[in-house]
Amino acid sequence: MGDTTATITATCHRCNTAHSTTVTITQLEQHWRGHLAQHAYPSHTVNQREILIHERNRRFGPHPAPYTCPTCFNRTFNQGEQP
Ligand SMILES: [Zn+2]
Repeated sequence: MGDTTATITATCHRCNTAHSTTVTITQLEQHWRGHLAQHAYPSHTVNQREILIHERNRRFGPHPAPYTCPTCFNRTFNQGEQP
């Protein structure tokens, strides 16, 4: 039996670009039940995990924060802009 996959998308609140990553339902369930993202998604990059963490926060809170893509995050960090 193959595991069903899901594509999770987060839209950057600064450049309005949608970023997505694909995970298995099993991985999502582990994460949403309380596993750390780096344990639930060991083969995903840090940036991909940020999308997944954003989705979890959006669904379950308690503090849903806007998603910032790596490009905008780096721009903010390097230029010292205020978000
Ligand atoms: Zn962006």
